[in-house]
Amino acid sequence: MSTSYDVIVAGGGPAGLAAAVSAARLGVKTAIIEKNGILGGNLTSGHVGPIMGGTSKGTITDEILELLGIKGFRMHDVERAKKVIPKWIHKENIDVYLQSQVCDCIMEQNQIKGLKVAGKNGIYEIYGEIIIDATGDGFVSYCAKAPYEKGRPEDRLMQPVSIMFTLSNVDTVRAVFCYGEECSIPVMGMRYDEFCQKAHDEGILPPNVSVVRLYPHVNNGEVLCNTTQANKIDGTYEPDLFKAELELRDQMDLIINFLKKYIPGYENCTLKDSADCLGVRETRRIVGEYILQDEDLLSGRRFEDCIVHKADFVVDIHNPTGGGQAEGTAKKVKPYDIPLRCLIPLNVDGLITTGRCISGTHRAHASYRVMKIIMPLGQAAGVAAALCVKNHVLPRKLPYKQVQKVLLDLGVELFDSKETKNYNQSMEECQMTSTELVKIVEKFAQSGWDLIDVPSKKWLEAKNSTDLSAELMKAIEQADKECGSCGCEFDPLYKRALVLLQSV
Ligand SMILES: Cc1cc2nc3c(=O)[nH]c(=O)nc-3n(C[C@H](O)[C@H](O)[C@H](O)COP(=O)(O)OP(=O)(O)OC[C@H]3O[C@@H](n4cnc5c(N)ncnc54)[C@H](O)[C@@H]3O)c2cc1C
Repeated sequence: MSTSYDVIVAGGGPAGLAAAVSAARLGVKTAIIEKNGILGGNLTSGHVGPIMGGTSKGTITDEILELLGIKGFRMHDVERAKKVIPKWIHKENIDVYLQSQVCDCIMEQNQIKGLKVAGKNGIYEIYGEIIIDATGDGFVSYCAKAPYEKGRPEDRLMQPVSIMFTLSNVDTVRAVFCYGEECSIPVMGMRYDEFCQKAHDEGILPPNVSVVRLYPHVNNGEVLCNTTQANKIDGTYEPDLFKAELELRDQMDLIINFLKKYIPGYENCTLKDSADCLGVRETRRIVGEYILQDEDLLSGRRFEDCIVHKADFVVDIHNPTGGGQAEGTAKKVKPYDIPLRCLIPLNVDGLITTGRCISGTHRAHASYRVMKIIMPLGQAAGVAAALCVKNHVLPRKLPYKQVQKVLLDLGVELFDSKETKNYNQSMEECQMTSTELVKIVEKFAQSGWDLIDVPSKKWLEAKNSTDLSAELMKAIEQADKECGSCGCEFDPLYKRALVLLQSV
């Protein structure tokens, strides 16, 4: 284990895992810091599934679904996930710090330089060129003093928390399955959802539980239950976490008794296992260069700096003040893009956010928080971080086209076919510009004139770093002023280099 890395990913949930693998595959030295004893976040410790939502084709999600052995809409086997995920990460040469909690960050003015980690031997420092905040709660960004928002605009309430649990001994041939708030399967002469509502009104089900959501599982005879619900909990306030634990473990008994007594297929069901930690749907949303808006989801907005394309999931707001959905029904969206700017926090440099803490409104978050969207967000964050390291550039200054190019090369679909054609054309033009510019700067580097050969050499050594372009431009402008019409071969090159530098 080292004390410095190119990229450090704080948090080993679905977003953090995708980020770390994507960064490491681009050849940068990467570490994951994870407070739990296992990797996976909600995929393992949280017992969360089925992996929902959708995006365009070709993302890292496909690889993760295959790894977990999921076909179709089913909860995965958490034990399998606990085994295959660490092996997957180990194969990529990523250093993993388990049972290690990020407890603060190391700053130089407004740039993050590393993390303080509470480990087995006390608190130690670990440095990284780029830090990815994949903690779900946006904890690193919070420590770095990035701005954030919590909850819905009217009262700041966040979505309820839950403890997920799995039932075994279910007769899955006869069993009722219920995926959302609505389910018309007949039970005791009424619809299942109405029957649940009645049981809630009569006090058979817990106060916030007005429907019992039951999901199919990859294992025979097992069903996942996503139903316990504690309201008005702040997932970043420790006393609330314990309050919710107490309440939700009791709710599990009531729900299982209800299923055994009334619901076909569940007569002999037993509790197989439950999440190791409270499932927190929503906490800090770190304010970035762009805040994904409600309207962007409704209109299926396209963004020039798109890094996740055709994100698709309903605006699923579990009711913060009662049972069911906050808005009656979960509203549909038109498949939308997520721009790179949502991952770049305001005011803090060297930091990229990913996963559920990226920049969006409360309602937008209720859609992009599902894992088929979260994983490609992680992939994009990892690619962006690796490119920042390789090009010595801060995330805010990283040209988004570079991220898109790598994602496209990996097979990720980022545009519709007509847009792809335009994009390829503009990439070709960009490539031609860059080749011409490098040739001119190479000539400057051999000019023997300190004014331009020093910055030219520096720029070339840093592989055309955009950070050094401003310095180079200043030198060329000065050279042009002093000697731009002396009649030598460099006269037109100064002018051309300035035009090219501006367009790159
Ligand atoms: C109850 C519940 C039900 C859900 N149902 C579904 C569903 O059916 N389908 C679906 O697709 N999505 C569902 N979701 C949403 C989805 O699970 C999450 O939005 C998603 O897991 C977020 O991924 P993430 O990587 O950002 O965060 P997480 O999965 O929360 O991972 C964050 C990781 O960071 C670690 N961490 C946090 N702080 C620190 C620190 N200071 N130092 C080190 N490590 C740290 C955590 O231990 C964790 O491993 C559900 C969520 C909940 C809570």
